[in-house]
Amino acid sequence: MADNENLAGGDPSGYQAAEAEAGSHAGRLNSLRAAVLGANDGIVSTAGIVIGVAGATLVPFAILTAGIAGLTAGALSMAVGEYVSVSAQRDTEKALLEKERRELDEMPDEELAELAGLYEAKGLDADLALQVATKLHAHDALAAHAETELGIDPENLTSPTVAAISSAVSFTVGSLLPLLAIVIAPTSLKIGITVAAVALALVITGYLSARAGGTPYGRSIVRNVAGGLLAMGVTYWIGRLVGHALG
Ligand SMILES: [Zn+2]
Repeated sequence: MADNENLAGGDPSGYQAAEAEAGSHAGRLNSLRAAVLGANDGIVSTAGIVIGVAGATLVPFAILTAGIAGLTAGALSMAVGEYVSVSAQRDTEKALLEKERRELDEMPDEELAELAGLYEAKGLDADLALQVATKLHAHDALAAHAETELGIDPENLTSPTVAAISSAVSFTVGSLLPLLAIVIAPTSLKIGITVAAVALALVITGYLSARAGGTPYGRSIVRNVAGGLLAMGVTYWIGRLVGHALG
């Protein structure tokens, strides 16, 4: 990835940019947002599957089987994807920490000046910045550099396993909504009730993800609901085509 190329290249400005980017990525990946996105994925993809099958056949057994298979495959795929991506992020963070540790070892004076410079850039006077940096160096130099330079808490790196489990769980919770809606609803209302339940759920996840990201609600909700309706429309249409052709 670009970050790693910058690291290997040893270009100082590219390196700093890569460091800053790795730090802000970690900061933005808060768990609420990940949970909402996982649930949203579960709602949309399972709704697409069950509505698509319902376009071909309204036999409850067929819809339920497809829905459960979709839920299981989706949850596992989310878990594996999350595990791989968080592991990669964690490897990057560990490499950055290792490099920082080495630099602190080999050139502590330059590192002290660097930390003081960062505090000065944040608005402290030069004297005070040096005082703060000196204190922090005496206390836990690596933690101070990790936090200020990289935005990483070395004691608290994201666990790939926890991330994998929580995304599988949130995907499953999201999936259960369209699955239960279409199974429980009476035959003539299956599609209508499922579409309505999904649209309502997407209003809620659109609102929550806007809140988590600190962005305006309105557009996020409209985009989210429109995307879900489009997905269900497409799969329903394809399901009908397949049902007519093969049924
Ligand atoms: Zn440093």
